[in-house]
Amino acid sequence: MEIEIATIGGYEEVGRQMTAVRAGDDVVVFDMGLNLSQVLIHDNVETEKMHSLDLIDMGAIPDDRVMSDLEGDVKAIVPTHGHLDHIGAISKLAHRYDAPVVASPFTIELVKQQVEGENKFNVNNDLVKMSAGETMSIGDSGQVELEFVHVTHSIIDAINPVLHTPEGAIVYGLDKRMDHSPVIEDPIDMQRFREIGREGNGVLAYIEDCTNAGRKGRTPSESVARKHLEDTIRSIEDYDGGIVATTFSSHVSRVSSIVEFAKDIGRQPVLLGRSMEKYSGTAERLGFVDFPDDVGMYGHRKSVDRTFKRIMKEGKENFLPIVTGHQGEPRAMLTRMGRGETPYEIEDGDKVIFSARVIPEPTNEGQRYQSERLLKMQGARIYDEIHVSGHLREEGHYQMLDALQPQHVIPAHQNLKGFSPYVDLCESQGYALGRDLHVTRNGNMIQLVE
Ligand SMILES: [Zn+2]
Repeated sequence: MEIEIATIGGYEEVGRQMTAVRAGDDVVVFDMGLNLSQVLIHDNVETEKMHSLDLIDMGAIPDDRVMSDLEGDVKAIVPTHGHLDHIGAISKLAHRYDAPVVASPFTIELVKQQVEGENKFNVNNDLVKMSAGETMSIGDSGQVELEFVHVTHSIIDAINPVLHTPEGAIVYGLDKRMDHSPVIEDPIDMQRFREIGREGNGVLAYIEDCTNAGRKGRTPSESVARKHLEDTIRSIEDYDGGIVATTFSSHVSRVSSIVEFAKDIGRQPVLLGRSMEKYSGTAERLGFVDFPDDVGMYGHRKSVDRTFKRIMKEGKENFLPIVTGHQGEPRAMLTRMGRGETPYEIEDGDKVIFSARVIPEPTNEGQRYQSERLLKMQGARIYDEIHVSGHLREEGHYQMLDALQPQHVIPAHQNLKGFSPYVDLCESQGYALGRDLHVTRNGNMIQLVE
């Protein structure tokens, strides 16, 4: 069976991920993501109203025109998890394919909300839920099967899809960390990866997320960030002023830890900001978390302002607002608080907890610096980097290669510079550039079996 891989987006950057795998006549697309930094560079861009081609020109979404060079029909569009760099272009591109979107329950719900918010296109693709551990037959040959393997990442319900073909398995490895004690959910299913590496024809190709390949050792577990958070919040338990926390709103495990420790020190947690409400509300509705009954979630500007007024009236010492703005995003809640645009007054000695790390990118670094300066000018004390990454480091990558024993390796989710430490690792394991280690760019085809 002919096997061909189109590396469409996310091979020159972190963002706008998209890869297509053709097995005989059947094509499966993995991820359709948005490169948010390309959007944020421009002021006041409303992507909901924009045409796909303009967004492609901006470098914001994958240039999927290369798909016309791929023979065969798309049978499924498979986003691996709910981060925007993996699902953010579905509302702009999916309607061009007569295929369902197949994803885990939490991811499908986020795709659904995104498609509903789209103003330019009518995206009517079927949305099909498939959980980790389940399989689905692809096409009519009876020889190609899609499987979801549970992985751990900085968002819940993430999977790595595996396309089983007569030539071996194609494992699409974006995005994960190897977590054996995550806060909610099960540990990563390494046993299944080891089985896949050894059954049938083994693994034909492994497409890997190289985000943190240049960092030594292994990525700590989410339970480490949780412990760090607990220790920090306990250390300011006796403070009788304002404590505010911010984190990735899509990081529901982290939000749930902050909620829990806020309760532990006798403060009422309130989630503020549109995306805080969106992700945590969705996770609770689907049964992934069970927040205490009195946790407030407010997304709309008016209800947020009303809540801030209530906090000021009843005393800041009784609350712990969990807000958006960990990267200093200009329109996010914490940035507005720093600018004094909300009724919440930050006073000398108030604590601000950043349960996040600055994404190392000039726009983020600048915005975050500005936001932090504004908070400090009002006397805020900053507790920074209470965080662990969602991506594998060097030893995690080594363990994955060892488990899967892939014949071919394709680095992804980075630029050329970011690929190089992963290339070094692969070469030390006997792979050779141009032979079975394929460093590529956006818009290329790799023919693995002719
Ligand atoms: Zn991700």
